Amino acid sequence: MPTIDFERLHLQSDLRSPLKGFESISVPTEVRIDPLTKRKSRIITWGLPSKGRFDFSRMAEESKGCFFCPENVFSKTPRFLEEMIPEGRICTGNAVGFPNLSPVGTYGSVVVLCREHFLGLTQFAPETYVEGLSVAIEIIRRTMAFDSESRYWHISQNFLLPGGSTILHPHLQVIGDPIPTNEMEWLLNGSSSYYKTNGTPYWKDLIQIEQELGKRYITSMGKVHWFVAFAPIGFNEVCGSVEGHGLVTTLGKEEIASLARGIVSTLKYFDKKELNSFNFSIYSIPSEPSYQLLIRIISRTPIQPYYLNDWTSFEVLQSELTSNVVPEELCREIRPYFV
Ligand SMILES: [Zn+2]
Repeated sequence: MPTIDFERLHLQSDLRSPLKGFESISVPTEVRIDPLTKRKSRIITWGLPSKGRFDFSRMAEESKGCFFCPENVFSKTPRFLEEMIPEGRICTGNAVGFPNLSPVGTYGSVVVLCREHFLGLTQFAPETYVEGLSVAIEIIRRTMAFDSESRYWHISQNFLLPGGSTILHPHLQVIGDPIPTNEMEWLLNGSSSYYKTNGTPYWKDLIQIEQELGKRYITSMGKVHWFVAFAPIGFNEVCGSVEGHGLVTTLGKEEIASLARGIVSTLKYFDKKELNSFNFSIYSIPSEPSYQLLIRIISRTPIQPYYLNDWTSFEVLQSELTSNVVPEELCREIRPYFV
């Protein structure tokens, strides 16, 4: 079997610390190179302490009755074109999908996940995501039947203001285009070139190697393998890869349920760490057999009274990603949540 290089570089900063009577100290930083994309990530060792739990009650009270609340969702949100989705909106259980009034590309939809205006991280149930993902996938299926050029899709969630969401009410973004995003292109190019060189899919090999190493592999739920990224592109990054699928449109009920369970498990862990905001993306890329469907979930700096953005000049202007958690420690801590 081909080998995958987990390359690390050690950096060290020496200084005299006022916290230790101005003695000399060394602060290490580990630079990790992603085996597929070759992007560098910095693992920093001095994460900021939690500022405690944020009380959402006032924010939820002030913003309730939004466009996504049950009394408005069928009267104040857009409808799909009749030639594409004649019924106007797609619903499963409590989830409602419709076009985004403020799209950023060819096809942009919103899926409202639940009737509740606000949910804390421990209040998301697997069924909420089963319904939401099922609506998202049906929108993608119907759109692809209408326009076969719309091949590159992601199903994402931006939760709370630090995650980039202006609306508190839990919802997904479903975005499709004839061209891939940067990230999809990096995944696609890396996966194709690995496949050409080795004759096997990178993702299959990665999962097997991570299973053998045991340091970053969390668990499998049916065909979904959950693991922690070696070189994370965000805080507390948890990944899932779905064996035998590259597109979300081929997923069956069992795979959707496994994705939903993994998301909910990750959110429970985030809550335990007093985090409250997150993003995830499911990358649906038509490039089988080299690619295997990937979901990445990351936490964001929690919402707090004074705004703190966790993307500094490092991430925004140097394209160098940082993580304040050692991936192997994250894996050890999060395993018990994946039950
Ligand atoms: Zn609402």
